[in-house]
Amino acid sequence: MTAAIEIRNLRKSFGDHEVLRGIDFTVAAGEVVCVIGPSGSGKSTLLRCVNLLEEPTDGSVTVDGVDLTDPNVDLDAVRRRIGMVFQQFNLFPHLNVLENLTIAQRRVLGRGKERAAAVARDNLARVGLADRADSYPAQLSGGQQQRVAIARALSMGPALMLFDEPTSALDPELVGDVLAVMRALAAEGMTMMVVTHEMGFARDVADRVVFMDDGRVVEEGPPAQVLGDPAHERTRAFLARVL
Ligand code: ADP
Ligand code: MG
Repeated sequence: MTAAIEIRNLRKSFGDHEVLRGIDFTVAAGEVVCVIGPSGSGKSTLLRCVNLLEEPTDGSVTVDGVDLTDPNVDLDAVRRRIGMVFQQFNLFPHLNVLENLTIAQRRVLGRGKERAAAVARDNLARVGLADRADSYPAQLSGGQQQRVAIARALSMGPALMLFDEPTSALDPELVGDVLAVMRALAAEGMTMMVVTHEMGFARDVADRVVFMDDGRVVEEGPPAQVLGDPAHERTRAFLARVL
C-alpha cells in the first residue's frame, strides 16, 4: 500500500510550549483514520501540520509522496491535493451555494465557468443537496452548510480529505446527515483523516483509530481494539468520559 500521509517524529512548538511531541504514523491510500483525544491534546495542530497551515518545528510530513518540509516544495500544488473541512463551515455568506463551489475551482484550478458549475452540481448531488444550488448559506441549516463545505472541498478533486470535528458545531439532529455523507465518501475509497468525538462513526467507519494525549500518540489500532479493549489507562479514562 502506498502511504498517502506519512508523519515522522513530528514536533510542533508554540514558543516554549511543545504541543506535538514526536508523532509517528501513516495513513495509507484509501484508509480512514480517526484521531481522538482530549481537548488540547494537539489534534487540530496535527491536522494543520498535514495541510500546511502550521509549519512543523521538527520531523517530516509527507503527503501524496511530497515532503512538505522540503524547502523547495510547491506548497500550493500540495494544498490543491488536500481537502479540508473544519468545525466552522467558512462558506462565503454573500455567494450562493453554486458560487461557493465554483470560486476556488475557477481561481485556483483555472477551470472555465461551465466546467466548474458541472463539477459543483455533481458534488452537490453527492452530498444530497442538488436542489440547493441557488440558496445562500444563511438559508441553510448548519448540517446543510457543512455538506456544502464538503462538496466544495470535493469539487477541487482532492487526493485526500482532512476533517477537524466536522459535526461539533451542529445541533444533534443534524449530525447524522453529515456523518452519512462522510460514510459514503469512505465507502468510495477516499483517504480520510478525521478528528472526531463521534465514537459511533469511528467504530463503524475507521480502519484505524489513533488516540492522542498531551501531544503524543498513546495508542492506535483497529477501532474494536482501541475503543473496545484499550491497552492504556489514559485511553480508558478518556473513553469513560466520552462514551
Ligand atoms: P485539540 O485540537 O486536540 O483540542 P489543539 O491542537 O487545538 O488541540 O491545541 C493543542 C495545544 O496547542 C493547546 O494547548 C493550544 O492552546 C495550543 N495551541 C494551538 N494553536 C496555537 C497557536 N497558534 N499558538 C499558541 N498555542 C496554540
Ligand atoms: Mg481541535
